[in-house]
Amino acid sequence: MTLLSVQAARERILSQFEKVETEILPLSQAAGRILAVDVYSPNDLPPFDNSSVDGFAVIADDLKKATADSPAVLKVVADIRAGSVPDRSISRGQAARIMTGAVLPDGANAVIMIEDTDSEYGRSETPLPSEVKSFRSIAESDNIRPRGMDIKNGLKVLSAGDPLRPQAVGLLAMMGVGRVEVYRKPLVALFSSGDELIPIDRPPQPGKIRDSNSYILSALLAETGCATAFLGIAPDSISGIRQLLDHAVDMHADLIISSAGVSVGAFDYLKEIIQSDGALDFWRVNMRPGKPLAFGEYRGIRFIGLPGNPVSAFVGFQVLVRPALGRLAGLRAVNPFKVPVRLAEGVESDGRESYLRAIVNEQDGVLTAKLTGHQGSGNLLSLVQANALLIIPAGVKSLAIGAQTEAWLL
Ligand code: AMP
Ligand code: MG
Repeated sequence: MTLLSVQAARERILSQFEKVETEILPLSQAAGRILAVDVYSPNDLPPFDNSSVDGFAVIADDLKKATADSPAVLKVVADIRAGSVPDRSISRGQAARIMTGAVLPDGANAVIMIEDTDSEYGRSETPLPSEVKSFRSIAESDNIRPRGMDIKNGLKVLSAGDPLRPQAVGLLAMMGVGRVEVYRKPLVALFSSGDELIPIDRPPQPGKIRDSNSYILSALLAETGCATAFLGIAPDSISGIRQLLDHAVDMHADLIISSAGVSVGAFDYLKEIIQSDGALDFWRVNMRPGKPLAFGEYRGIRFIGLPGNPVSAFVGFQVLVRPALGRLAGLRAVNPFKVPVRLAEGVESDGRESYLRAIVNEQDGVLTAKLTGHQGSGNLLSLVQANALLIIPAGVKSLAIGAQTEAWLL
């Protein structure tokens, strides 16, 4: 049987996802959201010519011959604090004390740093000297940040689909954008399934294991900016699973994500339920780990059934769910960041597109990859120790030491 390729699976999933609606938030609550509009600067930044240092605003020509042994002596005629507006201009032979960020006075065309003068390092009480000696010369426009140097009025500074990283939030603040249109958070209903699962606060019991997938997946969902409703653990029964699926429908989730129960086991009911009350698009992908991965819809809500083994659930999420959530959340770029790496050891695969847990290090300017341990899909420790997923393309069964391939940095 030919399995669906990872690429085809990703495209089939993506084709079913559109951006959610937008909402308007105060800027203070917008960090981490995805911007829904293009933003153009409403003014020049900086808004006025200002000093980039604490020092003295001068006319560069006056300092032409200044040296440590023969300093230029200027008359200090004004004191310009940050936040104030100079009340006079300066002319030849004159200087104005000026603080970082303060408005440059008319007449001045450079600022000499306080460190290059005989002036004391400032404290608020340091009195304004009547004269200042400059121990060096200076070029015109030195230490001046001219109006519009960083951003010209009307420049497009952010685009719809950009994530509002802390630096972008700062930029919006700089432009006085107090309320911003962003996409709302997608709501994902999440559940685990399996008779062997117990919540982590229950005492261990024979034959049972703790539900770790819901923790992995909740954390991944938080990282991708989704709101998550964890619905609990479904038993391996049709009615138990259906109850949680119906709960997800009632809360109008944008997507239902489950783990386990989508393989070929005797009690793997999920596919059957999806088929009878919705539609099953596919349930097997040519990847390792993560082959049993189901996609479809249940009563009109998109459904992704991840594999049960924790590493498979993680990899399935990264490779197939993350791009879809990016699209849903309004992100412009949904492709993962991959880098070329050289293998520090030979690796084997089974011909499926493989995502192996690896450490990528720089060695003599080359990124080099080494596996972190046995690649059993239940071995979460080897994933914890990894900083990358090493990608072995479909159809390749072994790669020799020194071979080139790609890695996805985590
Ligand atoms: P299944 O897909 O139901 O055949 O499960 C595959 C493997 O994943 C089994 O060993 C399960 O015990 C394990 N598993 C399933 N769900 C979870 C979970 N939520 N947390 C940890 N392991 C799980
Ligand atoms: Mg099971």
